[in-house]
Amino acid sequence: ATPTAIMAAIGNATTHGFLVREGDALERLAKVSKLAFDKTGTLTYGKLNVIEVKSILPQFSEKEFYTLAAAAEQLSEHPLGKAIVRCHKKEIGTALSPAQQFQMIPGEGISVVVHDNRILAGNARMLAQNGVTLSDDVEKKAEQHFLQGHTVIYITIDRVLAGFIVLSDTIRAEGVQLIEQLQAMDVRPVLLTGDNENTSATIANELGIHEVHANCLPEDKLKWIGIYQGKGEAICMIGDGVNDAPALKKATVGIAMGGVGSDIAVDAADIVLVDDEVKELPHLLALSRRMMTTIR
Ligand code: ADP
Ligand code: MG
Repeated sequence: ATPTAIMAAIGNATTHGFLVREGDALERLAKVSKLAFDKTGTLTYGKLNVIEVKSILPQFSEKEFYTLAAAAEQLSEHPLGKAIVRCHKKEIGTALSPAQQFQMIPGEGISVVVHDNRILAGNARMLAQNGVTLSDDVEKKAEQHFLQGHTVIYITIDRVLAGFIVLSDTIRAEGVQLIEQLQAMDVRPVLLTGDNENTSATIANELGIHEVHANCLPEDKLKWIGIYQGKGEAICMIGDGVNDAPALKKATVGIAMGGVGSDIAVDAADIVLVDDEVKELPHLLALSRRMMTTIR
């Protein structure tokens, strides 16, 4: 493409909400045959709501358990943690005890100290890593939620399961149309997500995405990008989280969600989607292809 064509395309991309940070990003995008999506915050709004709170230990009422979970999550930057704090404030509103020694565990959840107790909040992998087993009853309830696309966060107190919190997200309104448009352009979608298999499969089915890799750690997302590239595919990755950053860097083109996205994701990306309007992606792909056919 000529410098003039590139400048014009970058200008057009800007009016559609894309901030092109790397000069040659659109040239690389024109060759893309695969688009890898993060789930939470990218294909969903990342605005989760707490739909169920279940305390298991007799010494905690539902309210007390909910308040402890919110206290544990108060330093969290993950959409799940933020949602627990936001919904607790709206529904219960009691003050939260301070959280200390906050630690993020990629692909698992968080670890933190509240009232001298070690609190873990996270998924089944986190429980397994810490030798905590689930009762059949809890496991069954969780499975039912997964099949509805919900996320279940388990809370342990000093390695004893204290209960769980169920959250539900909303798929972006134009998601189905977006996937159809990509397929029509011969760009195949793939979902790379840290969430579990059943929740991810439910969301992917609703969107018409047939390729899903669940339970992804940041290094797994990176690994999948490398595997596709090894097969000769030019692959674009779009995501919002810290866990997406290595994959965004490695991808042929990395696109970060500018609104919900973390700074680390934005820094790793070639292009920033400023207002998170993923429905503009087909326009950007078409624009980059047109740019390459413009002859001097
Ligand atoms: P994704 O954004 O693709 O869902 P993440 O790697 O950010 O992936 O998260 C993976 C999983 O780790 C989440 O689905 C959740 O189960 C757990 N998790 C992450 N952060 C938290 C948190 N603050 N509290 C509880 N669980 C968490
Ligand atoms: Mg995400």
